[in-house]
Amino acid sequence: MQRDTAIFDLIEKERARQTHGIELIASENFVSEQVMQAMGSVMTNKYAEGLPGKRYYGGCEVVDLSEQLAIDRAKELFGVEWVNVQPHSGAQANAAVMLAVLQPGDKILGFDLSHGGHLTHGSPVNFSGKLYQPSFYGVEQETGLIDFDKVVETARREKPKLIICGASAYSRDWDYKKLRAAADEVGALLLADISHPSGLIARGLLNNPFDHCHIVTTTTHKTLRGPRGGMIMMGKDFENPFGLKTPKGEVRMMSSVLDGAVFPGTQGGPLEHVIAAKAVAYFEALSDDYLTYVKQVQLNAQAMAKAFVEKGYNIISGGTDNHMMLIDLRSKGLTGKLAENTLVKADITINKNMVPFDDKSPFVTSGMRVGTAAITTRGLKEGDMSRIVELIDTVLVNNDSESKITEVRKDINNWMQDYPLFAY
Ligand code: PLP
Repeated sequence: MQRDTAIFDLIEKERARQTHGIELIASENFVSEQVMQAMGSVMTNKYAEGLPGKRYYGGCEVVDLSEQLAIDRAKELFGVEWVNVQPHSGAQANAAVMLAVLQPGDKILGFDLSHGGHLTHGSPVNFSGKLYQPSFYGVEQETGLIDFDKVVETARREKPKLIICGASAYSRDWDYKKLRAAADEVGALLLADISHPSGLIARGLLNNPFDHCHIVTTTTHKTLRGPRGGMIMMGKDFENPFGLKTPKGEVRMMSSVLDGAVFPGTQGGPLEHVIAAKAVAYFEALSDDYLTYVKQVQLNAQAMAKAFVEKGYNIISGGTDNHMMLIDLRSKGLTGKLAENTLVKADITINKNMVPFDDKSPFVTSGMRVGTAAITTRGLKEGDMSRIVELIDTVLVNNDSESKITEVRKDINNWMQDYPLFAY
């Protein structure tokens, strides 16, 4: 077969882009060589509808072992009783949970997208807002913090069947206990979507959702540093409170309802190459090296937040507990769009982001979101954060000066040579 040089040339260009620049997109990371190898392996050739030991295809003996390893390692990593490692993505994991526990038209309560929530938590442009009836809670304008007592009040008023906590752009920790009490009071289930901070949660650096939340979903590619994908977990399995009984009149356990909601409910064949790579990522996340890594992610985020504040930037909530922060650029007279488009010219990647009570459209926005998961994998330490902030500030202040931006880009490209990225 003739080599597809068009695509492989582009892959080389993308490798160069990732290598030369500073990656600050809070949802991104760099996987290890062995995670990459597992993803690009012969496991991609295998169909394996079903679960380990219960498949609809022959020849699954090997992938059964690999998927079981992924499950066992995830259970150990998060200290949970039940896991499904098959969701193709975070959105798929949330779709499966909602299919499992809700009927169309049921009420859900989630964190407002424009305050830092995710599309799959009830946005009108997403299945979750189209199929179900969403209501939302947000942050307080003065503090940038979620007032959990107010969330409880909203739950009492709205009486949702599912309360969703977790965010794409919230830099503080969650009061899962209070939310569970609210869920119990109104007869709702509590779902935590820990996609962003799951690596920090796994290693005990943030509050543990499993003690309080009925169901937990995560992506596997953010702070967890695995392949792109999703996962559903339960600290403890329980009887499905809303579901139909089995033909024998027994109540089904939630684990079996959730398994069925992933396949055949929302997906076909699992991506066994990605599941193998998830297993590798969990193996790595159980190591001492990874604990050192997530601690450094947090230290770097705190050092970066401090450096931004010292330069007069307005960080929503004033700081961070996790790996990210959301910056309101209005006090600097900038938009998120301008910041994103200008910084990329200097090989710094961030994303524009709505800030709470934003007066601009999602295509422009007043904010930018930055995170430290990727640069920490690269080897940068808290002492490097003020230099990064200095470079960002220089570019933003001189956003109309091509020569200044070029100067910063050269500086960054030289600096990043000290942090080689890919051995593969
Ligand atoms: N949930 C949250 C909180 C997220 O931040 C994201 C992704 O950014 C998702 C779900 C969706 O994950 P994916 O892009 O893998 O579908």
